[in-house]
Amino acid sequence: MSIHPVPEVDVVVVGSGPNGLAAAVTLARAGLSVQVLESQDTIGGGARTLDLGLAPGIVHDICSAAHPLALASPFFSAFDVEARGVRAVAPTASYAQPLDDEPAAIAWRDVERTADGLGVDGPAWRATLGTLSRHQDLVVELALGDKRSVPPALLSPRTLLAAPLFGALIGLQGTPAWNLPFRTERARALLGGVAAHAIGPMPSLAMAGTAGLLGSIAHGVGWPIPVGGSQSIVDVLVADLRAHGGRVLTGHHVRSWRDVPAARAVLLDTPAPAAADILGGRLPASLERALRRFPHGDGAAKVDFVLSGPVPWRDPEVAEAGTQHLGGSRAQMAYAEAEVAAGRFPQRPMTLVSDPSVVDPGRIHGGLRPLWAYAHVPAGDTTDPTEHVTAQIERFAPGFRDLIVASQGIPASQMAEHNPALVGGDISMGRVTMAGMIARPTARLDPYRLAGTGWYLCSQATPPGPGVHGMSGWHAARRVLEHEFGIREMPDLAPSAAV
Ligand SMILES: Cc1cc2nc3c(=O)[nH]c(=O)nc-3n(C[C@H](O)[C@H](O)[C@H](O)COP(=O)(O)OP(=O)(O)OC[C@H]3O[C@@H](n4cnc5c(N)ncnc54)[C@H](O)[C@@H]3O)c2cc1C
Repeated sequence: MSIHPVPEVDVVVVGSGPNGLAAAVTLARAGLSVQVLESQDTIGGGARTLDLGLAPGIVHDICSAAHPLALASPFFSAFDVEARGVRAVAPTASYAQPLDDEPAAIAWRDVERTADGLGVDGPAWRATLGTLSRHQDLVVELALGDKRSVPPALLSPRTLLAAPLFGALIGLQGTPAWNLPFRTERARALLGGVAAHAIGPMPSLAMAGTAGLLGSIAHGVGWPIPVGGSQSIVDVLVADLRAHGGRVLTGHHVRSWRDVPAARAVLLDTPAPAAADILGGRLPASLERALRRFPHGDGAAKVDFVLSGPVPWRDPEVAEAGTQHLGGSRAQMAYAEAEVAAGRFPQRPMTLVSDPSVVDPGRIHGGLRPLWAYAHVPAGDTTDPTEHVTAQIERFAPGFRDLIVASQGIPASQMAEHNPALVGGDISMGRVTMAGMIARPTARLDPYRLAGTGWYLCSQATPPGPGVHGMSGWHAARRVLEHEFGIREMPDLAPSAAV
């Protein structure tokens, strides 16, 4: 079904998030004319860095801040952001898990140092996350594939070790047997904190997969923070798109297919139900139902602070990490996540924190620095999270409150005001479950193609799911090239191939 008879442009991409831009760049590189339509006044979706007007010269990453996937993903490896001038610095410690009554557990980039800090659990950590980190490329390829084709990694003999180990870690950490491999609370909490990135009841297979992926990268390329903020990644994508003739129109919210110029193919960087709304009645009924039924996940509520000094972590080693997971013990985190799933705002919500100036002193202006935080809360919750997040940081950093110069809290219910894809504060465009990671948003053989309409979904609502990796856009673009333009070879994305 072609909606518009006479195309004005080869391809339209609705949404300029990392996946929309990854698709746009790939298609423009293949020689197609590409128009991106973005509802907001600024480009980049979940990878924007903005001046929130909280203090002169201070900018905040309004969504993503740390980028383990942006440097490790096959799309970004081929695109090579670093060769284009993005300087991403991996802190000495990837993430930290402060604890109430003992020193923090720290995931240093150096796996030996991490294992040493985990005492009797050191050997188990070394044998699992340490081994997986040595095969980070395989783990990434397995996790970031389209879940429809055989990843080339599976043909490597090394996969015989890495894939079963990854599977065993998911099997153990994702079930009630999750405490078995580790004997101390320090190791359990450290892994629990990284698993919680998937947001949802703990334990779950999807969370365990997230822990295996992000946890192994933590000891590989690390969790880099781009100098100047996440926007620097967006900026090089947009520069490449424009260099290949692509255009971006901001302030253009697409409500219906009528808001999109005639094109041979349209890619939607939107949640699945939004795709059904936009195509309103033009999809096969079963597909439309399936898109509408794909459930949203729990919420996140954001707080951006301006501080007059570094966070006074009780355990000073926590300050060396780029990201802090504030939830205490594994049992406390599981309790908070269960409260969220039950629709109750937790007393001590799971909170993630990042101070970019740990690796990027250029973010400090006039002695003031930004601090990025968000908390897991019930979907659509209207509570201003500022006090809860402040109390959670103060719990592990007494005196924090006295450093706050300014702050801005955004309840989950208002997250969509700066990105319509964040419905009710769902930062993953859909609940993250293991089955859902494969059948995301539907169990069809091609989860990107919206039947034979010439329309495609290219957002994180498709495999491989959440994160700034560009892979959903890249997988969708491959199908557009093949089905709509008969192009079977993917274009070279390397900077050297730039015009
Ligand atoms: C608070 C927060 C913290 C995060 N932290 C991290 C992190 O540290 N590391 C990490 O890797 N990931 C993080 N993420 C997740 C990451 O931001 C997302 O996984 C990623 O941005 C998804 O990319 P996307 O292109 O699929 O969607 P988005 O980035 O959400 O982009 C979608 C774009 O489409 C536009 N759009 C939507 N609907 C329409 C429409 N109808 N018409 C026109 N335009 C439309 C939106 O405005 C937006 O620009 C975080 C997310 C949030 C919210």
